Amino acid sequence: MYAQLNNPKHYKFETVSCYNCGSTKTSHFLVGEEDLTGKEGYFNFEKCSDCGLVYQNPRVHMDQIKDFYDNEYIAHRKKKNWGLLTPLYNRAMNKHDRSKDSIVSKYVDLNEKSQVLDVGCAVGTFLLHLHKKYGSHISGVDFKSDLSFPNFDKIDFHCGLFYEQNLPKNNFDLITMWHFLEHCYDPVKTLNKSAELISDSGKVIIEVPRLDSVTYKMFKDKWPGVQAPQHTVMFDKKSLFEMIEKSGLKVVDYLPYGAFPSYFYIFTGIYFKIFGKGLNLENTVIPYFLGQLLLSPVLLFEKKLNLSMQTVVCEKA
Ligand SMILES: [Zn+2]
Repeated sequence: MYAQLNNPKHYKFETVSCYNCGSTKTSHFLVGEEDLTGKEGYFNFEKCSDCGLVYQNPRVHMDQIKDFYDNEYIAHRKKKNWGLLTPLYNRAMNKHDRSKDSIVSKYVDLNEKSQVLDVGCAVGTFLLHLHKKYGSHISGVDFKSDLSFPNFDKIDFHCGLFYEQNLPKNNFDLITMWHFLEHCYDPVKTLNKSAELISDSGKVIIEVPRLDSVTYKMFKDKWPGVQAPQHTVMFDKKSLFEMIEKSGLKVVDYLPYGAFPSYFYIFTGIYFKIFGKGLNLENTVIPYFLGQLLLSPVLLFEKKLNLSMQTVVCEKA
């Protein structure tokens, strides 16, 4: 199937077996594109015939995937790139960090002795928020460094692959992965590593897009959770639980929502359906906020509607 996809010649792909069960038997699931930035390419997703996990196969070679995380890629946009929109962007980012805080503080009592690790910490605003509010010790891992970002030096930052980092075992009271696991090239290794690093009473909190959600049914191959080629895996609730439970962690709570606003998936899904790939946020900011206002009665029930995200809370097994 993928051999027929018309990709630029310099893209390198590698075939992988199922991250969850190791099987190589699959059926075709969908072809995704880089809808956010509009970069070239078609990326194939397969469904494991044995366990049902949906994953990118073949996937973009690890040497090349960094090129897809450039300044165009929204999760890594720095505030200073936003010009006149900076105040709006800052407000949205602060709100996002507060939403993360309201989830984690239900499960962990953070204080000045707490050790927090954020895996895939990007520019570190969530960690800095926790440090400011609770005085907690903050550590972060990402494969790109953003050392120029304000106060980034307050984070004990480790650059590189999470499972290769030399971090103290049995040490952390809270490990968070906000939209990290679906990008991971070895999710089981990542989960095992977090089971090793979390303290006996600590919590690992993981948010990923939810494949068995309303917005996936609405948008299918234009679902923003496809986000190819950065997303290597698309988890439904069942496959997420299965992978966690074979990795030295056990699930203690499940939320059919996350800190990430579902409305972003609704807006961008409609946009990609109508206009195709390549989102120009600066031209769409007014429709974005208007749409949010119109949908606000629905979004009030976001936590009950299974719109797009899922969060699992885990402990050491
Ligand atoms: Zn499988």
